[in-house]
Amino acid sequence: MPISSGLNSEIIRVGIVLPEDKIQEINISWSPKLDLESNVPDLKTVHNISLIVEGDHIALKNLPNIKSQTSITISCPDQVESLSTKYGFHIDSVVAGRGFHWEKRIEVDLPGKLDISIQDGSLKVINFVDVEAYVACVATSEMGSEAPSDLLAAQTVVARCWSLALAEAKHLTDGYDVCNDDCCQRYQGTTFLTNHSLKAAIETRGEVMVYDEQVIDARYSKNCGGMVEAYDTVWEGGKVPYLIPLWDAPEQKTGYAVDDFEAHFGYDEAYCSSKRFENVNLAGMLGKVDVSGSYSRWEQTMTKVDILKNLKKYAGLIWSSIDDIRIMERGPSARIKCLFLIGTDENGHRAEQMVKSEYGIRQMFSDSFLYSSAFEINNAETLRGDDHVVLKGVGWGHGVGLCQMGALGMALDHINYKDILKHYYPGTRLTSLS
Ligand SMILES: [Zn+2]
Ligand SMILES: [Zn+2]
Repeated sequence: MPISSGLNSEIIRVGIVLPEDKIQEINISWSPKLDLESNVPDLKTVHNISLIVEGDHIALKNLPNIKSQTSITISCPDQVESLSTKYGFHIDSVVAGRGFHWEKRIEVDLPGKLDISIQDGSLKVINFVDVEAYVACVATSEMGSEAPSDLLAAQTVVARCWSLALAEAKHLTDGYDVCNDDCCQRYQGTTFLTNHSLKAAIETRGEVMVYDEQVIDARYSKNCGGMVEAYDTVWEGGKVPYLIPLWDAPEQKTGYAVDDFEAHFGYDEAYCSSKRFENVNLAGMLGKVDVSGSYSRWEQTMTKVDILKNLKKYAGLIWSSIDDIRIMERGPSARIKCLFLIGTDENGHRAEQMVKSEYGIRQMFSDSFLYSSAFEINNAETLRGDDHVVLKGVGWGHGVGLCQMGALGMALDHINYKDILKHYYPGTRLTSLS
């Protein structure tokens, strides 16, 4: 039986500049040595273009002799062997962290084809890129330059499976397969590409994990907190046989209760426990953007005023106070699936609201985005008198599938990438797509 996947092509379409970014002008440059093809023949002799929206056309600001276009394509070779650091087209202003408080503009270098057009009065840039090249770039963006080779190999295979399975298909109606951001997988092209991650991509080329002869939907997150979460705690659609709860540790612990938070807090044997990384340069291994703490254990304060603001922002409710927060249901890793807010509305009447998803809970209890929904509220009973709540939690991210810090812990224990993958995706088989 042939192996099936969601992406029926060797090329993946990545949204880089999106209409919602409302970008009116971009600068793209490239090396004179780049083997360039374009639908605008004159571009073969230049090395940078400054594109600006002019009605429903794209004007070339620095090349007034070239007439404006409805769409521009430029392309260069994108086989994984042709890649190197900063290879391809350099774009000066791409949004990263879309919609989050850390949203910023970054510069990226992209291999393959860029398709530039106008939608809703703003620029839209789609990168058509070979899946193997994309996977090498994603693994680099997710990892630091000092990542052990088995961690990189595991991350590369996981990124490949996630891309090919295309289970979430969040953007198909927008004309691309994935976006360049954490919403899908972080992709910054060849900007930070290392020889190390290129080697991992070439050495694992075409390797995927399958279940029932289908490429698996390989979810991953930064830190599970000690126990890997079940798929159906976080997403709709029922159970997934290989995304199941398991202790992120050499041995599976038994005899604990789901709401036994002490079992989670006191669990230091986990591969992702911060105890394992006391003498490790985490930033070098897991990437510079993310690491200012270990996040396997955390504590945050949220004022009641800020919860009320979020209630208005995300649920459209105007309340004058919050009086009680009740946790209704947790997943196996202690991530909250559902909680109940009780308060007073603007007319002084008792009001109630259910917050039903892991994502919604992380939005509601933070002014940015809470590390995880695996937390307990220390002062829920005394809430009426206090002006804030103290959240004590574990883990960073949804916790389903591969735990990146746990995979690092395993790689540092000299466990090879095949066994790392087997640990996080039980019941799957590693095979080659060739
Ligand atoms: Zn996305
Ligand atoms: Zn973990």
